[in-house]
Formats: sequence, structure tokens, C-alpha cells
Amino acid sequence: MKTVNLSDLTFDAEEERAVIEVLRSGWLSAGQVTQAFENEFAEFVGAPHAIATTNCTAALHLALLALGVGAGDEVLVPSLTFVATVNAIRYVGATPVFVDITSLDDWTISTEAARRQVTPRTRAILPMHYAGFPCDMRAIETIAAEHDLFVVEDAAHGPGSWVDDRHIGAIGDVGCFSFFANKNLATGEGGMLVTDDEDLAQKIRHLRSHGMTTMSWERHKGHAYQYDVVALGYNFRFDEIRAALGRVQLRKLTAGNEARARAHARYVELLRGIAGVQAPFAERRGRLSHHLCPILLDEKIDRLELMKRLRQNGVQSSVHYPPAHLMSIHRHLATSPLPLTETVGRRELTLPLHPRMGSDDVEYVVETLRTCL
Ligand SMILES: *Cc1c(COP(=O)(O)O)cnc(C)c1O
Repeated sequence: MKTVNLSDLTFDAEEERAVIEVLRSGWLSAGQVTQAFENEFAEFVGAPHAIATTNCTAALHLALLALGVGAGDEVLVPSLTFVATVNAIRYVGATPVFVDITSLDDWTISTEAARRQVTPRTRAILPMHYAGFPCDMRAIETIAAEHDLFVVEDAAHGPGSWVDDRHIGAIGDVGCFSFFANKNLATGEGGMLVTDDEDLAQKIRHLRSHGMTTMSWERHKGHAYQYDVVALGYNFRFDEIRAALGRVQLRKLTAGNEARARAHARYVELLRGIAGVQAPFAERRGRLSHHLCPILLDEKIDRLELMKRLRQNGVQSSVHYPPAHLMSIHRHLATSPLPLTETVGRRELTLPLHPRMGSDDVEYVVETLRTCL
């Protein structure tokens, strides 16, 4: 029986060589490989500053912290996201204000709803580019300008996604990326913040490393002998092994995303012939990351049973996402109904999508889906 996994790595001898080189260099903590990865990532997305972190959750936390968002502040956020997006708001003591998605075709934050939910306490808006399909950034920028809000983009799904000639994550005040094992650019764990604000970048660098004014690499190089601690920071640093993986992965990203786009286009075409199934974002074109292949199942379909049958036939599937506002830890903060988010939360199914999938794999998944339905 054929098996098709939800995601797959694109590692080969190049990543192996890069890691061995680091091991032989004798320097493991953030140093010149990390700096090179930061510079290359910054250049790729067109942002002046990129700062590598332990993961995207830490990046979101640092972004809000550095912007001074905290107790008494409200942050507009979609509920249809990975719970880390919302947790980061809670870490700094601010209050998430859950916003519904745009429609059953566009699962990104509704800018109309967001505008209605602005209050005098709103300090920031935290859009998430679902599967790498860009949010309506023009509308978000307008709302932010009108109400003097910070924009922090959760671009965890989006390395390699552009809106016109602007890379997502490099549009708002700060953008946060994830390099978790199943993301488009994978280093195991890992994340990156990008910003065009020099002062903010400096602040984030300090907060990433205990609030210290210099890092061990600089001291090792003899550029600095002393340090002061100027803020209550964290240890959210990256390391050289993962940076080495990241540099190779970045070089493979565009080809990988193009392979994803081809597989996704084939899915959209084949899924049209299946009753009871809809594909969101079906008409979106352009340079996109195609992180996930989500579908919306008919109300009458038993999703759990379907997932079980798919699995028995070698097809992995998942759900993105159980809405954050329905989680026990956040439920008390849900103030208004989010009907579209809840509909997607109940009826969404994620099909396998990764650069190593050929059209035969896509055909197998869709045929299996048809049979299991
Ligand atoms: C993966 C993910 C995160 C968290 O990223 P980590 O690097 O695992 O901390 C945040 N938001 C979204 C939308 C994600 O998919």
C-alpha cells in the first residue's frame, strides 16, 4: 500500500555536509553561521533586520515585548490559528481579542470584523497568513494607521509568500517565522523575526539574550569584554547547527514552494470532481508558500471516521485548527461569536502537501478520499 505523509523533509547530503562543518568548527552557540543565516534570510524577504530565535512562539513573544504591548492592552488576533499565536499575547499580559475569518473561501482574519472590534485599549493587530495565503495587508495597514496600532505578522506558514513585491512578514512592524520540522523551511525547532526598525531590532537582540548588551560571540571575537544587563530578557537564542540547516533550506525554499504549488493546483483541479468537499483559496495565484492543503468537508461528513479510513489507506491527515477561543485556557476571553471560525474548526481537513509529492501522490490521495467518503 502507498503511504502519503502530511509533510516531509527535503534534507540530503547538502544538509549533512553543512552540519558536519559546524561540528568540526568547534563553535556551537550563535556565531557566524547564525549571522550569515540572519543576513541571507533578511535579504530573501527584503527586510533590513532579521533575528533568529529558538522558535516562532518565542519570536511572537519577543515582538510584543519589544513593542511594549502589555497589561491592559488588547491585541486583535484570529482564533483560527495555532494556539501559540494567542499564547504569545497572554505571555506579555495583554488580552487577545478574537476576530473571525473573512469567509469560507478566505480563512484569514476578517478586516471588517477587526475594524469593528477596535477599542481605545487596542494596541496591536496580529494577523496570521493561513497556509501562506496573504491576509489583506492593505486593509490591515489602513486600520493600523487610523487607530495607531502595531502590526505583528504571524508568518509561520509563509516563507516564500509575496503580496505583489512585498514578502509577507516584512510588511508590518515585525514579522515572525517558524522553522519547526514540518514547516516549509525546517531546522527542527527555530524561528526568525524581521523588522525594518533599527532600534526595535536592537531591543529584540537584547531581549533574546537575557537583556545583555553583548553576546558571547562578540566577546570571543574580542570586540567586547564587558556586558551590562539592561532589561529582563530571556534565552531565546538560536545555534550554529540549526543555522547551517537553515542556510541550505533557504536555498531550496523557492524550488520546494514551486513543487508545492504544482501539487496544490492538481489538488484543486481533482477536488472539483468530489462531492461534499470544497477547497478554500482555490483561485489564489502568485508566489506563495502553499504550506498546507486544507479542505472544507460537508456538514454531514463524520471527520474523525474519515480520518481513520484515510489512515487505514496510508493517507495522513490533520486539522488546522481547533479554534483557539474554544480552548479551555482561552475560552473565558471569547467575547463575540465567531461563526465562520467555528464552522471551519468543525469541518476542516488538511491533506498531505510537501515538495516531494508528485502528481501520482495527489491523485492517490484524492482517489482514496473519494473511496473513503
Ligand atoms: C508553527 C506555528 C507557530 C509556532 O511556531 P514554533 O516555531 O513551533 O514555535 C505559530 N503560529 C503558527 C500559525 C504556526 O503554524
